[in-house]
Amino acid sequence: MARVDLDGNPIKPLTICMIGAGGFIGSHLCEKLMSETPHTVLALDVYSDKIKHLLDPADSPLPWAGRITFHRLNIKHDSRLEGLIKMADLTINLAAICTPADYNTRPLDTIYSNFIDALPVVKYCSENNKRLIHFSTCEVYGKTIGAFLPKDSPLRKDPAYYVLKEDESPCIFGSIEKQRWSYACAKQLIERLIFAEGAENGLEFTIVRPFNWIGPRMDFIPGIDGPSEGVPRVLACFSNNLLRGEPLKLVDGGQSQRTFIYIKDAIEAVLLMIENPARANGHIFNVGNPNNEVTVRQLAEIMIQVYSKVSGEQTAETPTIDVSSKEFYGEGYDDSDKRIPDMTIINKQLGRFTQSLI
Ligand code: NAD
Ligand code: UDP
Repeated sequence: MARVDLDGNPIKPLTICMIGAGGFIGSHLCEKLMSETPHTVLALDVYSDKIKHLLDPADSPLPWAGRITFHRLNIKHDSRLEGLIKMADLTINLAAICTPADYNTRPLDTIYSNFIDALPVVKYCSENNKRLIHFSTCEVYGKTIGAFLPKDSPLRKDPAYYVLKEDESPCIFGSIEKQRWSYACAKQLIERLIFAEGAENGLEFTIVRPFNWIGPRMDFIPGIDGPSEGVPRVLACFSNNLLRGEPLKLVDGGQSQRTFIYIKDAIEAVLLMIENPARANGHIFNVGNPNNEVTVRQLAEIMIQVYSKVSGEQTAETPTIDVSSKEFYGEGYDDSDKRIPDMTIINKQLGRFTQSLI
């Protein structure tokens, strides 16, 4: 049966220039595009380990032979970038430094990666009239308004004070000394630039704000498939602690709240954006599951239980310990208190995806 979009029109095979294709989200998106669509991917990254199973081995071609090619390049300095964007119908930019441990310890690299390095991508798309799907972050919202209310205020329970809406919520960051916000601020400025390119020069764009997407191939286990001193995002940190039989470290008591969504559910939404440009262009989309909220402490407790069940090992005597954020991340760390995505806009534009989730 021919593939059709949400309005019943046939979908033409696309060529997609995917920057950062070798990362966590990129690898799942490539997998989906190869196994379920006729689209072609020009996969750009400095690493290919997470997509090597999708790249053709010389001796036995894969079912999607010829539809994915890997281009090892660093977008900071590679003259091939514009040519690859020109060859494609659509560019998807995923490239970024996006692990919180880097934001306050490598703020310059973080700002360059999330703002400066993305500039040529936006410029080439705009100048060559190419559509752009840019990956931003839920972190552009920063802290909730409710975080500034007294701890016992009943208003803290009112969704008006915490639900994050693309077209209404303010972006609330800490002071400049709190370098944690270098990432959010750089992402916010590139969003504003893309939005302005749309308004002034007609760039066709979609901005994605992922809310804690999780699943296989996310980050690394320190000392196993990544640097031993590295600090990945929380899922990999806790997995590492469990595998080593160490207590899970709860930063500032693990009181912060997050909503998690499984990568394969989130990727469904990205595919709808790719294949429904008329519905996705000009929009910023939250992508998350508002009904799947836990505190970091609860997440630790769930992971401890699951690990004990699958490994058959007894739970450690001290399963968790509290650590201060200064001790864990160093000077300049700060945190988002709570992240509940409002899903009204994505439901309205691409409804089929979120109806199945909520
Ligand atoms: P990731 O680190 O796994 O993937 C990013 C990829 O970009 C890596 O493979 C990296 O090698 C590549 N890259 C970075 N700089 C590059 C450069 N200069 N040239 C070429 N390649 C480069 O991260 P991810 O979780 O897949 O996230 C992808 C995007 O989504 C990022 O923009 C991130 O900010 C955003 N995001 C993700 C989440 C999430 O829940 N996973 C949450 C918020 C935002
Ligand atoms: N965190 C924690 N212990 C760890 C790693 C992270 O308590 O070993 C906390 C961190 O302080 C934050 C939350 O877990 O409150 C989520 O952190 P993550 O690095 O996954 O990214 P974020 O959601 O903040 O972007």
